Amino acid sequence: MIEKRVALVTGANKGIGRQIAAQLAARGVTVVLAARDDTRRAEAATALGVDSVRLDVTDPASARAAAEHVERRHGRLDVLVNNAGITGGSFDPPSRIDVDVARRVFDTNYFGVIAVTNAMLPLLRRSPAARIVNVSSSVGSFAATSTPGSALASLPPSVTYPTSKTALNALTVQYAKELAPEGILVNAACPGWCATDLNGNAGDRTPEQGAAIAVELATLPDGGPTGGFFDDGGPVPW
Ligand code: NAP
Repeated sequence: MIEKRVALVTGANKGIGRQIAAQLAARGVTVVLAARDDTRRAEAATALGVDSVRLDVTDPASARAAAEHVERRHGRLDVLVNNAGITGGSFDPPSRIDVDVARRVFDTNYFGVIAVTNAMLPLLRRSPAARIVNVSSSVGSFAATSTPGSALASLPPSVTYPTSKTALNALTVQYAKELAPEGILVNAACPGWCATDLNGNAGDRTPEQGAAIAVELATLPDGGPTGGFFDDGGPVPW
């Protein structure tokens, strides 16, 4: 008998994360919906009919407790989607940034990924074909933001969110390098500009559309790419 695969999605009570959880569940994956807000977590998990666990990615103890939950309930983890992310509400340029805001954004978008990934790695190592997906953004792409005339290069300078995603991209490459010998594929996904609370629902794509690339990377076959950055159109330049 083929065992069902088990996936944990962070920040999955709403937005793109909730859609990633829904699409994985629709593919027959056993989903653990992870979120820090208990009320929204319970509502989303009930609506999707999936397991759930409290997880604040900025709190390593919370990440370890979530890993214990997964171990108790499921025994291993096949897929980790690091989706939780924030803008910090600030799009200030470097010269005006409040360093505490920058720290808060990095705490979630970068250090949170390390805390959760490292807490889950012992369980991922029990999988015959583990996958890690980091939900990034093209605003973190050096190439896209520094190519004169490109749409992203013409955005005003902003230091917190874009640089946290650049750091996340770099982190993705390093995890991929370390885990490749174990067959664990690690990639970054760009969902595109989706209408969610993150941007006041201004995006021109739906969260469902944004979720698709993360789901594709979460369900890569053996021998699939690792250490890459992808959107619906294929590889995104670093
Ligand atoms: P969203 O609707 O605001 O959802 C963000 C999720 O992250 C929420 O569930 C939120 O939980 C969770 N979260 C934030 N801080 C957390 C923490 N410390 N611990 C656990 N969960 C936490 O935004 P979204 O657009 O779906 O964003 C999902 C991911 O896509 C993010 O990484 C974002 O950077 C990325 N992304 C989005 C877009 C876009 O256009 N929307 C584009 C590119 C990339 P609470 O409910 O508890 O706050």
